[in-house]
Amino acid sequence: MQLQEILDRVSTYAPDADLDVIMRAYLFSAKAHAGQFRRSGEPYLTHPLAVAGILTDMSMDVDTIATALLHDTIEDTLVSQETLAEIFSPEIGELVDGVTKIGKLQFRSKQEAQAENFRKMLLAISRDIRVILVKLADRLHNMRTLDSMRADKQARIARETLDIFVPIANRLGLGGLKTELQDLCFRYLHPDLYKELARAVADGAPERDAYIDRNCEFLLKHLSDCGIECEVSGRAKTLWSIHCKMVEQNLEFEQVHDILAFRVLVDDIGECYAVLGQAPALFSPIPDRIKDYIAIPKANGYR
Ligand code: MN
Repeated sequence: MQLQEILDRVSTYAPDADLDVIMRAYLFSAKAHAGQFRRSGEPYLTHPLAVAGILTDMSMDVDTIATALLHDTIEDTLVSQETLAEIFSPEIGELVDGVTKIGKLQFRSKQEAQAENFRKMLLAISRDIRVILVKLADRLHNMRTLDSMRADKQARIARETLDIFVPIANRLGLGGLKTELQDLCFRYLHPDLYKELARAVADGAPERDAYIDRNCEFLLKHLSDCGIECEVSGRAKTLWSIHCKMVEQNLEFEQVHDILAFRVLVDDIGECYAVLGQAPALFSPIPDRIKDYIAIPKANGYR
């Protein structure tokens, strides 16, 4: 991720944004981290840039992107919150300080994390949600680059991610971030199972992709023949969700039948039910497996 790409993305989703703050944060961070390196051997600056890039995927505001660029300056360099407040704004100083404070929490066990530290986390959430978003993006990039860590550290970080950060991402409705974290955790917590499952899933991929394409087309045609305007897409289940299903229901991979899913996007609730109304004409329903998240939202508020 390069600075220019970050600037381009921000000006695409926020044409009036003050890009100067982002540029100054970049220069400040580059200077503060000068001579520091990631364990992978890359210049340290690649990390805050990647974190900022992840947050542009979420169309975050300028202060959040600047915070991402600065997020390790208090922790890893001699910069203070006061300095950041003076040079940038009190708000950015507080955001970076918040990210630093969360980073210092130690999650030793799941129980402890759920009690004391999890509460602290939630306190931070309620003060400014952007602190948590930067921390989640930070963790995502660290998980993506976990290969360069020692094996024992990999397992500890993956465990903590699965116990603490995945539930928070889920609560916040960050589905894409959550599933990527889960698959990365799976890879480091159960490397053998992960490899085996990844191979099994990859083996069926060409056939499955063709099946998805064929059925997207079929669904789209049938629904538009019924006068329903919609977009249809399909995807394979993630490795982690297949793994969980196998463990929970004690299945072999060959017995997991729903490793793919289709999504129909419509404009309003009435059309959702119109699509659902067509389903029994096309597929045979499995008793007790139909869930209505419009009438009964998920615990995280998902509808
Ligand atoms: Mn970091």
